[in-house]
Amino acid sequence: MKLLRYLANLGYGSRREVLAMFADGRVTDVDGELLYGDDVRAHHTVRLDGAPLDPAPGVFLMMNKPVGVTCSAKDQGKLVYTLLPPRFKLRSPIVSTVGRLDRDSSGLLLLTDDGTLLHKIISPKSKLPKVYRVTLARDLRGDEGEVFSSGRLMLDSEETPLLPAEFERLGDREARVTLHEGRYHQVRRMFAAVDNHVVTLHRERIGGLALNGLPEGEWRLLDDNDRQQLF
Ligand code: URA
Repeated sequence: MKLLRYLANLGYGSRREVLAMFADGRVTDVDGELLYGDDVRAHHTVRLDGAPLDPAPGVFLMMNKPVGVTCSAKDQGKLVYTLLPPRFKLRSPIVSTVGRLDRDSSGLLLLTDDGTLLHKIISPKSKLPKVYRVTLARDLRGDEGEVFSSGRLMLDSEETPLLPAEFERLGDREARVTLHEGRYHQVRRMFAAVDNHVVTLHRERIGGLALNGLPEGEWRLLDDNDRQQLF
């Protein structure tokens, strides 16, 4: 693809704005040689103002989502995309979240511009385990493990029972739950079904991929090793 369109698709600006970047001599190769809109170059060999370009299409990243930040423009609050470089929201194809975490939940969130990858992860067939740590408003009853693993728990307004989920008690009001599907507000509704209320909800892991110390509000690109933790 010609560089003019390539940079516009990466979100650097409209065609006209990107054209001006070439005219101003801001786009070069690694040796500082000027490049032009008609040129075609490998992503890693192009510099804008001397800096490498944003990630190429096929970007796949993870974020440690803080509480209060939202995955959907329909909800009130700051969008997760505001934690990424501002240009990311102008990219084509756009970067979107792989599934969602509620505004009041925190933890591991995946984002990609690769639709095939996105569907592979969120497809009901994937059964990729998602691990959540919760704190609760009331003491555990004692039968949560049995209820959640039964494969018979029906939530309000659902037509099929939940798949068996794993439950681990971590304290009187603290637990870890592993899901193999992703229904709307599933963890919160599961605890409501056993007379409790989720106070904090944090996603620790998806498949074998964990946050591993990624600070809250930060993101990083996934490498091949990370991908192997998912597929
Ligand atoms: N379950 C919930 O209730 N909320 C989330 O954000 C994720 C799973």
